[in-house]
This record gives sequence, structure tokens and C-alpha cells, in this order.
Amino acid sequence: MRGPAVVILAAGKGTRMPPDLPKVLHPMAGRPLLSHVLDTVRGLQPDRVLLVLGHRAAEIEAAVATEDVEIVLQREQRGTGDAVRASGAALAGFSGTVLVVYGDVPLLRSETLAELLELHRQENNAASILTASFEDPGGYGRIVRDTAGLCTGVVEQRDLAPGQETIQEINSGIIAFEAADLFPALGQLQPANASGELYLTDVIGLLYRSGRRIGSYHLRDAAEILGVNTLEQLYEVERVHASRLRNPAPPCELCAAAARVARAAGAASGDHLLLGSGELAGLKVALQPFNNGHLLAFPRRHVTTLLALTPEEVAELAHWVRRGESALRAVYPFDALNMGCNSGTGEHLAFHLVPRWGGDISFLPLLAGLKLIPETPARAWKRLSEVMS
Ligand SMILES: [Zn+2]
Repeated sequence: MRGPAVVILAAGKGTRMPPDLPKVLHPMAGRPLLSHVLDTVRGLQPDRVLLVLGHRAAEIEAAVATEDVEIVLQREQRGTGDAVRASGAALAGFSGTVLVVYGDVPLLRSETLAELLELHRQENNAASILTASFEDPGGYGRIVRDTAGLCTGVVEQRDLAPGQETIQEINSGIIAFEAADLFPALGQLQPANASGELYLTDVIGLLYRSGRRIGSYHLRDAAEILGVNTLEQLYEVERVHASRLRNPAPPCELCAAAARVARAAGAASGDHLLLGSGELAGLKVALQPFNNGHLLAFPRRHVTTLLALTPEEVAELAHWVRRGESALRAVYPFDALNMGCNSGTGEHLAFHLVPRWGGDISFLPLLAGLKLIPETPARAWKRLSEVMS
């Protein structure tokens, strides 16, 4: 599959930053903000990378001279819609996904963008917005939804209708578009104000009204979309970056198990409580505190929603769910097996298999004193792997 074209917007003036450097060349952790964004984008293996420059373009272009990026000049800074439109000529023959990001968001992760793109593809969206929620969303464009929960548009702060101020879900500005939808819609944009600015977010409403589907991917770590417009914000991203280095996110339990499989060429591993795995999916005993017989059937890729699964992965997951049920039945003869799935929580997708006994076999009593399997995960792994071998 072909990678996206990534359009990085970096034409803004950054008038609230010290003038010794263009805004996106101010350093975080000793490297320009823009270098961090370029690294993030490279992680997606993009087909093209376009950098839209305007203010102090020559200095920025010189700073990225060794990078494989295409420079696009925005002559006058007439809004985000105009900035993306400036890349239209360069992308004239491009027919895939266009991902719009910003040169001043150094904390953004490649994994986040990959998940946004995966959702965009799976849902067959015209546009997919990276969103976040803030207690105090003042200043940000808000995500407006219809009664079915589908995104219908983005309303900027000053255009909020009564009642809309309470919306906490905001537009990060980072949006994946289909090129075939994006550029015609950009051509229809009307200036949003007297200075003739064109807003990229107005494209969302246009596409929705033309019957196209708009998706969204909600960030759990809202720090990823922090932009830098002031020195205070530069200190803030530096602080968050440093704390990430000191306290790296613990590796995902299921990715660790999958990595173990890859290294051990399919051998089951008691260390990771793995009961078996194939090319695409695996089965393991859950860690504490879920040692009451929970098994996890999980895709080996780190995906966080059912929508991201391929039909092949679904088939292999079903295989491991069945093998898990028969192993549990052999070791702990139960009355019923409950199954839960964590799609959309931001965690690695998994199906939990939970044996149940007695008259009440619904899921809720899990919270209140249900009968547990009196074994440690390691012991459960040992007995289950014996019946599976
Ligand atoms: Zn994972």
C-alpha cells in the first residue's frame, strides 16, 4: 500500500517568539521543533513530504537542506486552507491520503498518526480528524456531531452558537484527507473574515454536507498536540519531553508478548504467559490482577479498535478464541464463558475470555465477589499449556 503525502505547515510568523530564529527552528531537547516533527513523519514511511513555508522561508529551507522534503511557498499567509491549497500544484498527480500536520508540534508520536491513518482507511473516510478533550477548551475549534455521533464540522471559538461552548472535544488541526476530496473542497472555500483568510476546518463541513463521511481519532495523551507559539509553551513542551524520557511509557504488555514470539520463532513462553501464536494473532494468560482465568486473544499488531482488523486477523483471532475456550474448558470445567473486548479504549485490542460458574453468569458480578480460579497466572499458564500441547 502506498504511503500518505504529508503536508507540514510552517509558514506562520510566530510573532510571540524571540526573533533570533524562525519559530519552527527554536530548539527542544537541543534540536529544532521542525526536526522532531520530520522524525515523527518519517516513521510513517510517507510517499511524499511537503513543507509549506512563508515567513523566513529561506532560513528554514537552509535548515532542512539535507532532508528529503519538497518545499512549497505560500506567498501570503492567508490561513490554513490557503496553506494547504498551496501544496495542490505539487500534489496534482497524487491520488492517496494527504495528512496535514504542523511544524511546531514536537511531541506528536508516529504511532498516533499511524492509528489515525489506519482508522481513516478502514472507515473509508473523506477526512479523519485527530481530536482531544480539554476541561477548558477555550480558543480551540470544537468538534460538532450529529445525533448519530458522526462529526459534522469544526466550529471556531468566535463562531460558537449558544450551547456549543460546553463542547470539550477539540480539533487538533491534524487531519487526514483523501486528495480527491480535499483539493476540490479547498477550491470552494469562502474567506472566513475580512482579511480573506481561508480555514482548512471549513472543508470538514463542506465534505459532510456533500454526503461524505468524516471520522475522528481521539487522543488519550493530549500533550501530543501541544503547539509552540510562546516561550512559555516552548518550556512546557521541553518539560513534557524531559518527563517522557525520565518515565517512558511502559511497553504494551501484548506488544511485548508479540515481540517475544518473533524472537523465539513461535515458541511459547512462560515469561510472557503466552499459550500460542500464529502469524497475526496470539493467545496468552492475562497478568495480575486478572488471573481469574482470563485469557487474552490478541492481534500481534498494536491496533486499538476492531475497525483496524483485517479479515485475516479476524479469522486468526477467532481461531485463538476457540482454542482458548477449549483449553479453559478442559482445565477449569465452567458453566459459561463470558467474552469482552476493549475496542476504542486506546489500549491494545484484546478479547478477554472469562470462565463463569453458578446460576449468575452475567458479566457484572465480576465487580462483586465472583468465584476466582485460585491460581497464579504462571500456574494457570502451565496447566493450560499442557492441555494445548
Ligand atoms: Zn500493543
